[in-house]
Amino acid sequence: MKTLILTNKFELEKVLNSIKQRKINFIPTMGNLHEGHFELIRSAKKNGNINLVSIYINPLQFNDKKDFDNYPRSINKDLKYLKELKVSMVYLPEKDFNLTNTSMIDLGEIVDKLCGKNRKGHFEGVATIILKFLLIIKPEKIFLGEKDFQQILVIKKVIKDFNFSTNVKTVPIVRGHGGIALSSRNQRIKNINNLEKVYNCLIDIKNKIDEDNFCIKDLEYFKDNLIKSGICRVNYLEILKESDLSELTSIPSKSRIFISCNIQGVNVIDNLGLRKIYLKECGKLKFSS
Ligand code: AMP
Repeated sequence: MKTLILTNKFELEKVLNSIKQRKINFIPTMGNLHEGHFELIRSAKKNGNINLVSIYINPLQFNDKKDFDNYPRSINKDLKYLKELKVSMVYLPEKDFNLTNTSMIDLGEIVDKLCGKNRKGHFEGVATIILKFLLIIKPEKIFLGEKDFQQILVIKKVIKDFNFSTNVKTVPIVRGHGGIALSSRNQRIKNINNLEKVYNCLIDIKNKIDEDNFCIKDLEYFKDNLIKSGICRVNYLEILKESDLSELTSIPSKSRIFISCNIQGVNVIDNLGLRKIYLKECGKLKFSS
């Protein structure tokens, strides 16, 4: 089947309505595609026949105009890859989304955590555009990468709060050389070593927890080390519960290490899943057996 490229929601709706049972696997992206995106597409293809990739650099999710202007754009190359991967449809909604004075979604507490703290309005922008996509596409499944873990929770909330029946499928982080989490933004960073340091920091923390040798206050030591090693700014380095990004307690819970750094003016995020973990009174983290 030839890949359909659609730039208009009426055209898209016509095509979607012509599909029997309308079971659509949706993969939202901002383009500049790499192996991380391809993994989402492969996963979608395993989950059904009709897959739809969107490419849209969402201005609402950028709290910094310069970051939006500098975001890498490579639409011709992206379309070539998507055709090679035999994606059913590509939706480029640029003309459909009128964002002047658009209503915005209020997400509540989830934006007070992690990336929400230093990127004001970011998740509201993500949620608002995802809602627009969900209303048009009504996908059966949406495919999201664990690289943007907080974004998964935000999108799950939109789906639940607005009564969509869309199923969320998540894909583990795809890493490149030195464990670096692939990201469209990485190409703006000259010193790849700094990206490796971010991943190594996560691994070192995980190893210390494995060795039963990690206190929650040690996070400060790891932050300082990153800064001493030349990373400009550590926005956060935290270990939180996966379910709602709340703080660890004495009750064992599936948890994750989350990090965000600013390297050469570029925001870099990463995370690493842990087994069930709990916090002892002395501040020590323990894996629960
Ligand atoms: P983006 O184009 O950066 O908005 O990302 C589109 C989707 O691809 C999101 O669900 C991301 O979480 C996912 N993604 C981006 N990079 C990776 C990666 N390295 N591994 C897995 N998923 C990724």
